[in-house]
Amino acid sequence: GRVGTVSTDRAEVVVDLDAIAANTAVLRARVDRPLMAVVKADGYGHGLVPAARAVLAGGADALGVAVVEEALALRAAGVTAPVLAWLAGPGEDHAAALAADVEVSVNAEWGLAEVVAAARATGRTAQLHLKCDTGLSRGGATPADWPGLVTAAAKAQADGDVRVVGLWSHLAYADAPTHPTIAAQVAVFEEATALARAAGLTDARRHLANSAATVALPATWYDLVRPGIALYGLDPLGGDPAEHGLRPAMTVQARVALTKRVPAGAGVSYGHTHTTDRETTLALVPVGYADGVPRAGGNRAPVLAAGAQRTIAGRVCMDQFLLDVGDDAVAPGDQVVLWGPGDGGEPTAQQWADAVDTIHYELVTRVGGRFTRRHV
Ligand code: PLP
Repeated sequence: GRVGTVSTDRAEVVVDLDAIAANTAVLRARVDRPLMAVVKADGYGHGLVPAARAVLAGGADALGVAVVEEALALRAAGVTAPVLAWLAGPGEDHAAALAADVEVSVNAEWGLAEVVAAARATGRTAQLHLKCDTGLSRGGATPADWPGLVTAAAKAQADGDVRVVGLWSHLAYADAPTHPTIAAQVAVFEEATALARAAGLTDARRHLANSAATVALPATWYDLVRPGIALYGLDPLGGDPAEHGLRPAMTVQARVALTKRVPAGAGVSYGHTHTTDRETTLALVPVGYADGVPRAGGNRAPVLAAGAQRTIAGRVCMDQFLLDVGDDAVAPGDQVVLWGPGDGGEPTAQQWADAVDTIHYELVTRVGGRFTRRHV
């Protein structure tokens, strides 16, 4: 029946937007304070604009993205909620951000100078977040550089070039809620934010908590929380998201392209890392590592096919992989589910992550290639 039509469901990522909205509402109610929903990296692979609309429907107060292009894409789609784009390098187009009413962040005095220049060039006041490095050693000013940045920002605010609306940092070990670095980072954050407030930056909201901290560390919630992965229904602590009232939003599935009977002793896929141990049916699934299915899933990762979870047989290829289903009934066109919420017998992204030795974040943000995405 497909002659002359395009097979749009050969391989698809199905995104449950109601789940994203409901997850947002759960977290928003739990913290009972403003929530900045992180929708960077194409909404963690769920679609930037649909994810943004879903989190806003669920009660998010603001959106967070990494780079300014992501924020501009939200504006181009008509999203008017506050947006922070926090990852700016030298020569960044802050003028474009300011013109689109996008909040920006700086880590250093040179970055502040670039924002001030853009504010003067555009005649706008930059809505600015100052990032301090409390121990992750990634973005942010170190405790040594922080007082200088604060002093310069207080001057820029007095000059009307910026309004400091945020003071923020990021945790190294939020997924290990008892780790001693958390208290250490909180202590540095307390000191840094107190110093900024004493310097006159009294309008700024303090924010530190990612998803794990939003779920498990109330002492880090401050004036605003900043979760990402939990909005998409994945447990930042690696456990069962249902325990936090969260539901995974992403289902990844593909239709069997070919089946065949082969005898015992058949080598399967490149390098014959799987050999059939009996006469069996092989099913070919038309997605591979070019589509974001990790090559490490070969002989390791589970999928749901013909009513049971089965391990991928042999290596994952660029465009396809195989299943060895024995005498079970599998036919071309049958749906194979790589991961989903888990309540239909399919593996979860967490199970996949464990199988291929990564984190579910990497799986959901990388799935793409020739998968089509369908929002339901
Ligand atoms: N804040 C910052 C600065 C981030 O980089 C991220 C994501 O990596 C988040 C918040 C959200 O983190 P999570 O997805 O773990 O909630």
